[in-house]
Amino acid sequence: MIFSFIIGLAVGSFLNCLLYRLPKRKSILGRSYCPNCLHPLSLLDLIPIFSFLFLGGRCRYCRAKISLQYPLVELITGLLFLFAFIQLSYEFPVYNLRFIIFLLRNWFFISVLIFVFIYDLKYMLIEDIIVIPSIIVIFFLNLLGKIPFSLIFLGGITGLGFFLIQYILTQKKGIGEGDLRLGLLLGINFGWPKILIVLFISYLIGGFVALILLISGQKKLNSKIPFGPFLVIGSLISLFFDKII
Ligand SMILES: [Zn+2]
Repeated sequence: MIFSFIIGLAVGSFLNCLLYRLPKRKSILGRSYCPNCLHPLSLLDLIPIFSFLFLGGRCRYCRAKISLQYPLVELITGLLFLFAFIQLSYEFPVYNLRFIIFLLRNWFFISVLIFVFIYDLKYMLIEDIIVIPSIIVIFFLNLLGKIPFSLIFLGGITGLGFFLIQYILTQKKGIGEGDLRLGLLLGINFGWPKILIVLFISYLIGGFVALILLISGQKKLNSKIPFGPFLVIGSLISLFFDKII
């Protein structure tokens, strides 16, 4: 169980690397370095969370502040991986084949969600290079986990169709193409009819936050708010507060 947390920390560290390098279209191979002084980082600087705490949140070489995003993403990924393990252990015998399949699926899905959350907030963009392969991976893991094809298919169509209708109605203004593919991914993951709950919760939270931003004057009626983060939160709530099937 503790391994789930440690694997999550490592994956979180990889997500940070991806979040930093993907927008710059840099290879994910090659050594990490400080974005401020460009000094290559040693293994000691790369231990999730501990390096950040040990170094007091500053670069060892130039003392520039390290973004809080790094330890936060690591910690949240670690905790969610641990929760996924605990939740599944209530539904399946631990280390039974379906337990392993759904653990892998949930870990993978959680990683994609965390990535989409931060990337969409920062760049108002949902990366196809992440979402499209994820759709395929999740689809096959669900089939392996013996979720009926019809439910996966219907879920996917619902997730995609829901955004496609808005996409056409708003003439591409409100909804981006990235949202269409994210809708498909969520539908494939949750299947029918759970995707309906996910969409409902996401819109509830999205509407609530938009209202607060409007009232507090931080956003105007016509300003753009990325919708991806709300879909991520709706998904995480549905993932952890409902049964797998
Ligand atoms: Zn530095």
